[in-house]
Amino acid sequence: MSSLNNILSIARKEGRTVLSEQESKIILKNESISITEPKLATSAKEAIEISEKIGFPVVLKISSNDITHKSDVGGVRVGLKYKDEINENFTGMLKQVKEQAPEAVIQGITVQPMAPPNGVEVIVGVTRDEQFGPVVMFGLGGIAVEILQDVSFRIAPLTDLDAEEMIKEIKGFRMLTGYRAYEPVDLESLKLLILKVSKLAMETEDLMEMDLNPVFAYANGVIAADARIILIDN
Ligand code: ADP
Ligand code: MG
Repeated sequence: MSSLNNILSIARKEGRTVLSEQESKIILKNESISITEPKLATSAKEAIEISEKIGFPVVLKISSNDITHKSDVGGVRVGLKYKDEINENFTGMLKQVKEQAPEAVIQGITVQPMAPPNGVEVIVGVTRDEQFGPVVMFGLGGIAVEILQDVSFRIAPLTDLDAEEMIKEIKGFRMLTGYRAYEPVDLESLKLLILKVSKLAMETEDLMEMDLNPVFAYANGVIAADARIILIDN
């Protein structure tokens, strides 16, 4: 069984429609989309061991099927460089999340590498429209998407030209062509990412929603630092 079907059937069996960041990223990795890979730790000691293996700095994130917006409940700690920081943040995060989401069942805390610095934050998403099927969205990440809603849409399946136009038609396109501290972004890799997301959405009948938020875009390549896939509720 492909890991896609495997993951989908486990989620269905457990009565879940929301896939975890780990599950979502396995599916993306299978499509050769670059991701920062999360590994589950159930103790601070284990988190330190994983960090030493993958290399500092790392990111800790809460892992719970009941929490989809991790940073809303204090469930994301980035840029941790030392063992002591892992220790403090592991315990601190558990405490904070238990206060802010007392009902949530917590599987543990994942450890993943920090995405390299100086990337431009973008988002790539999919929502299934009742009439049109999967619709792909692209936009700048961070406050740009929240406040300015500077995004573009196309109905899947996307052509090469669709993907290229989606990137170029956002108002903030200049952010991607070299601005102040930022190098020009690898537009070819960004376009390929959008096309892979479109293909995955077309191939996954069960898919309701997919969010790669944020994706960091660099002079060479792009990396998804967070991912969430939601299945159709049936
Ligand atoms: P949420 O569930 O709240 O969306 P995210 O996983 O997106 O949680 O993490 C929140 C923020 O932390 C991201 O928008 C990004 O700025 C930062 N972040 C998360 N993972 C990484 C990573 N691997 N490398 C660098 N920054 C990260
Ligand atoms: Mg996110």
